[in-house]
Amino acid sequence: MNKRDYYEILGVGKSASQDEIKKAYRKLAMQYHPDRNPGNKEAEEKFKEAAEAYEVLSNDEKRAKYDRYGHSGLRGGQDFHSYQNVNDIFSHFSDIFSGAFGSSSIFDDFFGGSPSQRTRHKQTGSPGSDLKITLKLTLEEIATGTTKKVKIKKYNKCEDCNGTGAKTTGSFKSCSVCNGTGEIRQVSRSIFGQFVNIAPCNNCGGSGKIISDPCQKCSGDGRINSESTIKINVPAGVFDGSYMTLRGEGNAGKNGGQPGDVIVVFEEIRHDLFVRDGDNIIYELNISYPEAVLGTESEVPTLNGKAKLKIDPGTQSGKFLKMREKGIQHLNKHGAGDQLVKINIHVPKNINSKEKELLKELQKLPNIKPGNR
Ligand SMILES: [Zn+2]
Ligand SMILES: [Zn+2]
Repeated sequence: MNKRDYYEILGVGKSASQDEIKKAYRKLAMQYHPDRNPGNKEAEEKFKEAAEAYEVLSNDEKRAKYDRYGHSGLRGGQDFHSYQNVNDIFSHFSDIFSGAFGSSSIFDDFFGGSPSQRTRHKQTGSPGSDLKITLKLTLEEIATGTTKKVKIKKYNKCEDCNGTGAKTTGSFKSCSVCNGTGEIRQVSRSIFGQFVNIAPCNNCGGSGKIISDPCQKCSGDGRINSESTIKINVPAGVFDGSYMTLRGEGNAGKNGGQPGDVIVVFEEIRHDLFVRDGDNIIYELNISYPEAVLGTESEVPTLNGKAKLKIDPGTQSGKFLKMREKGIQHLNKHGAGDQLVKINIHVPKNINSKEKELLKELQKLPNIKPGNR
């Protein structure tokens, strides 16, 4: 399908100003607006076409690309959208439509917005709030992941009334403000005629019902503040300040409203022996001068117990030895970091006379002095 020229669609010249483009689009949008052309497929296509043209020409960068390369210079989905749904156009260009067309809920009604969208307003109760907790973790726990049980105070659904807040299922009466519909209709006028805006009723929270006989346990709230234990599965590789969200584990909503989330923020406890570097673990090992020269096998601590480390003869001070995959498991992917062992050669401060004698002897030998390799 050959696309029409954007300037032609909007009926403006190539040198049109942004203001002219905006005006031209607004005019077309009004002309082909689906409200004014119910069931007219051609008008709807024109309406979508104009939206696409406007999206490109109203943006200097996209317009420059279009001017140079035509339609082939633009990338669909990024530079422009092929609008399938008219409602997308309103949300995309809300600046141009606000005022002229009103809120999107009006359009839901006009274009027969999906039932799920409409019932979204008609919910019971009010949503519960999120809870934020800090979870301290050792490097050992982070290295492999762990499961923690944490006690928190939060609102839980009242078991007596199953969160409704009413004593029995018959303890409700119809809301007098909305006559039990849960919705308040407001009629407004615009250039296209009369609009009906539907908003949830504040008096009953959109449920259409008022509790006539409240549950005694929760006093009609539908929830009770109590201590709960939550289980947190901590994946391996989390880091200081990272967090995870436990959906629906937060405070229960009032009168059966949606529960909030628990946001768990991780805090890493400083380790006595190891320093973390990404998923690697750094450990400093002190060895003696003879060990460095002659080589040795040393036992070093790791995040899961002790492990043997071979030190080659002639190992230099400051060298890093790698213990493969002895570090922290990568977050959400296979494998683990390494343990890096930094070699420090121990220089004694206090020595006895025999040691002094021997060192003096040693000093005279040819390979001991720096410069001799
Ligand atoms: Zn209750
Ligand atoms: Zn009501």
